[in-house]
Amino acid sequence: MQRRNFIRTGLLLSASYAIKAYSNNLDFLNSSDAYLMTVNGPVIADTAGFTLTHEHALVDFIGADKISPGRYIPDEAFEKILPYLKEVADAGCQTFVECTPNYLGRDVHLLQRLSKATSLNIITNTGYYGAAGEKFLPPHAYTETATQLAARWIKEWEDGIDGTGIKPGFIKTGVDKYPLSAVQQKIVEAAALTHLSTGLSIGIHTGDGDAAMEELKIIKSKDVLPDAWIWIHAQNESRRDYHFKAAKEGSWVSFDGVSPGSIKKHVNFLRDMKAEKLLHKALISHDAGWYHVGEINGGDFRNYNCIFTELIPAMKNEGFTQNEIEQVFIKNPARAFVVGIKKTKKPSTN
Ligand SMILES: [Zn+2]
Repeated sequence: MQRRNFIRTGLLLSASYAIKAYSNNLDFLNSSDAYLMTVNGPVIADTAGFTLTHEHALVDFIGADKISPGRYIPDEAFEKILPYLKEVADAGCQTFVECTPNYLGRDVHLLQRLSKATSLNIITNTGYYGAAGEKFLPPHAYTETATQLAARWIKEWEDGIDGTGIKPGFIKTGVDKYPLSAVQQKIVEAAALTHLSTGLSIGIHTGDGDAAMEELKIIKSKDVLPDAWIWIHAQNESRRDYHFKAAKEGSWVSFDGVSPGSIKKHVNFLRDMKAEKLLHKALISHDAGWYHVGEINGGDFRNYNCIFTELIPAMKNEGFTQNEIEQVFIKNPARAFVVGIKKTKKPSTN
C-alpha cells in the first residue's frame, strides 16, 4: 500500500499536481488524478481506501491564550498514540483524518511521524475553531478581516504549516449553536475564501441544525458549492429534515461521535439518509482518541475500533449491502476530501 501510494504520488507530482477549478461540474472527482493531501503529500483519491473522516490523535484544551509547543513531550505522545493507530490500520483503516485545529494542539510533525510508523495516510487541517465560546481563537481572529485570515490559511497550503512543508488537507473551523457570533460568521467566510484559492474542503464543527443552515448560507454567498462543505457533528441535530436539506443541496453530513453506546442511533441516521436516497452524502466516524495534553501520560484514550467491531456488523443487520458500506467509508470520504475548487460560477479562462 505504502509503495503503491509512493509510486502514484510520484507520478502525480510530476504530471498534474495542480489545483483544479470546476464550475457546477463535479465529474473531476471521478478522474484518475483527483487527489487528497496528506501529511506526506498527495495521494490519489481512489487509492485512499477505508477512511475515518473525523478523529483526533492529540488535543490540548488549555486555550489559545496559554497553548505552547512545550506542554507535552512529543516522544511520550507518539508512544501513547501509536498502538491505537496500528490497531485501526490492522482493522482495515487506510486514511485517517485528524481534526485537531491550530491552537487546540495540531502537531503536524507528530502526525507525520505517526503516518510513517503506520501504514496510514493522515490528513491534517488549516483554519481556526470558533466554537466552545471562542476559547480557541487567537486575538488576531478578532482584529483581522476574513480576507486576512484566509491569507494566513492559504499560506499554510502554499508554503506548508509552521515551516515544515507539511500541507493541510482540509479547512477546519467550528461554531456553536445558532445564531453565529460575528467572529464565527467571519471564520466561516474566511474558510469559503480559502476554499476558492486552495480547493480544500471546509469542515465545520457545528452546534445545531440552524447554525448549519447559517453556515450554508455564508458559503453559498461566496459562490462556493455546498459540496465543498462538511457539516461536522450533524448528530447534534436530531431533526432529520435539516440533514436532508443540507444533503440535497450537495453538502456532506457527518455523523461522527460513534461510540459503543451510540450504535443504534448512528445506524438510524444512516438508515434514514438511505431511505431518502442521500447515503452518498453521509460521512461517519468516531471523533475518538486522544492524547490529552496536561493529563498524566495523556489520560484516557478512546480507541478507534467500534466502527469495525460494532457499527459495521449493526449496519449489516439493518440490511446495508457491502456496496453501501463501501459508499460510506470509501467513496464518500474520497469525494468529500478531494482537493479541487467547487465554485458556482464559471472560472474565467485565460
Ligand atoms: Zn472532533
